[in-house]
Amino acid sequence: MKFINKRPHLRKGHAITDRYLDTECKVDDGNGHHHYQNVDYDGSFSSSGSKDAMQNLTLENQENFCCYCMRDLHLQNQRVTLEHIIPQRCSDSEFYQYMGLNVDPLTTQQLTLTSKFTSVPDAVVPPRPHTVSFENMVASCDGTFPDKEGTSQCCNHRRGNKFVYPMFYKTRVADDVVYMEDGTLQAKAGSAHADEYGKTIASVGLNCTNLKDIRRLWHLFSDVEEADLVANLNNKNQRFLSLMQVLFLDEDKMEQDNRIQKNYMKDDYWRTFLMYHWFHKKL
Ligand SMILES: [Zn+2]
Repeated sequence: MKFINKRPHLRKGHAITDRYLDTECKVDDGNGHHHYQNVDYDGSFSSSGSKDAMQNLTLENQENFCCYCMRDLHLQNQRVTLEHIIPQRCSDSEFYQYMGLNVDPLTTQQLTLTSKFTSVPDAVVPPRPHTVSFENMVASCDGTFPDKEGTSQCCNHRRGNKFVYPMFYKTRVADDVVYMEDGTLQAKAGSAHADEYGKTIASVGLNCTNLKDIRRLWHLFSDVEEADLVANLNNKNQRFLSLMQVLFLDEDKMEQDNRIQKNYMKDDYWRTFLMYHWFHKKL
């Protein structure tokens, strides 16, 4: 997992939200007063093009990697989703639970509940409504793998509205998690927020079988050049040889390695494996 630094793109993110609020939601009440109405992520935010602009900006901000699983969203027209860290529909107490984490940039200076924003007269920004704010949105994959096309196995859809600790907003996150040899992702014992990290990893399915197998493969291929692994997509014989060089050397992992060999000789699995090249030489 990688730290997501919003700062370099904050200004552009704010501009997208502010333009949207000004042109689609602001109502002049006369007498120098105003209010905002119909702040609607799935409606006018989408139809006005603001959602696409926000999605492109979050992808640029994250160098095209999924905020949770590190899939490269730039490759092969991956379906991208915008993940609301604070769920779109949430109660006052849920909203303040996130604010209470004191994780920048999720702060009351920047964010307010959308329902509150539209209910007060003469609302000013910031804070901006949470459903359309850059600070509350990150790019995520759709969590699908070849064995269950169309259904969700990790990340945004798997999470639903479950509470997550925004671990990717912590500068030390890469040091506070550890990837095991079988591909399991764990919070480092004794690290700050280890408990919340562990629950979040479970909530978004980051230890689903497919992700574990993919990370194990990147671990096993740490001495192989990425270009050679890419070339193996179109050379099944070579792919077979590459797999046989690294699999079945650990008697504790025979079952997993059997599954990996069976699955990753299929092209769609190998293609999915390549989407996770962020892990190359990192495991
Ligand atoms: Zn993902």
